[in-house]
Amino acid sequence: MGVDFSTPLWYYNKMEKVCKKCKDTKKLEEFSIRSDSGNYRHSCKVCISSQRSSFRLDNIERFKENDRRYHKENAESKKKTTREWYLNNKEQALGYAKNYREENRELIRKNDSQFYENNKERIKKEKSE
Ligand SMILES: [Zn+2]
Repeated sequence: MGVDFSTPLWYYNKMEKVCKKCKDTKKLEEFSIRSDSGNYRHSCKVCISSQRSSFRLDNIERFKENDRRYHKENAESKKKTTREWYLNNKEQALGYAKNYREENRELIRKNDSQFYENNKERIKKEKSE
């Protein structure tokens, strides 16, 4: 489609094209031009951008799914490692916890009351529900 420069510009502005996607007749300016071939695209700009965003959404979903799976697998193996360590080092683990509690009795008590103080309303609400 060669451009005839004798044709006034308003004529080109009125030129229309049917979008293959939404089947709407739209002005040429509603279509973008392919950078590879220099031809107008078959879908209008609106369709192309919605196609792009749905593509992005699809990918976000896939990405989230992968992320979820990774975390799940990771959490499983972490749990397993912790459990194994605990079973192999039961005495030590119990000792640690006991020592920690004894050494930090004041601190734990303070933390607990601090936590209660900060979440008083929520705790009350949870209890009453
Ligand atoms: Zn369209």
